[in-house]
Amino acid sequence: MLYLVSTPIGNLEDMTYRGVRVLKEADFIACEDTRTSGILTKHYGIDRPMLSFHSHSGVAKIDKILDALKEGKTCALISDAGTPGISDPAYALVKAAIAEGIPVSPIPGASAVLSALVCSGAHTHDFRFLGFLPIKKGRKTLFESLRNKDYTVVIYESVHRIDRTVAEIAENFGGDHPVVIARELTKKFEEFFRGTAAECVAELKSRPRKGEFVVVF
Ligand code: SAM
Repeated sequence: MLYLVSTPIGNLEDMTYRGVRVLKEADFIACEDTRTSGILTKHYGIDRPMLSFHSHSGVAKIDKILDALKEGKTCALISDAGTPGISDPAYALVKAAIAEGIPVSPIPGASAVLSALVCSGAHTHDFRFLGFLPIKKGRKTLFESLRNKDYTVVIYESVHRIDRTVAEIAENFGGDHPVVIARELTKKFEEFFRGTAAECVAELKSRPRKGEFVVVF
């Protein structure tokens, strides 16, 4: 069995009981960064072998994990934070496991996309999650394709590009377009900034940029 175990997005208390049990019982844990995930495993007294599986892991690493699964071993896949498979490397392994007929099972929990969406105040009955926007190619076309759409859009953004992205939302949808910036969710300095695109641009300029961001518009 390949378990996809959700882990906290910043607050260690957001780990589920079942997630801890599955991690404790797994034959091995596949994670993006053994040092990052080591903080979680140490906190919960989880002592299982850990194997790194990240965006640069090639086919050989996938095959190694698949071989173990085919031998009947249980792998718990976690990412640096949140739900594996959402804007992280899990997809390739999940796809390969399914192709081999290996059962895949979710252990649900924290994810930045849903946490930001439900607290944004934007309507939630029809939304589109786009992950990280393309940095160059396809970015302009993507913005154009979103014009005049009624659904809520949720994107992930890094501290390096948050200013640019919010400025481009203002350019493409107008300075008065409603935008919510969710920052440092579940952490000590969690905050939601709700305003127009122009106000969000100004707000970001007014102070040092730090942390992790989800933008809802
Ligand atoms: N798998 C994760 C999930 O389920 O949300 C997402 C991983 S993705 C590599 C990391 C991005 O998610 C960050 O750049 C940020 O946009 C968003 N993110 C993760 N944790 C966050 C948090 N605590 N607050 C705000 N955004 C967060």
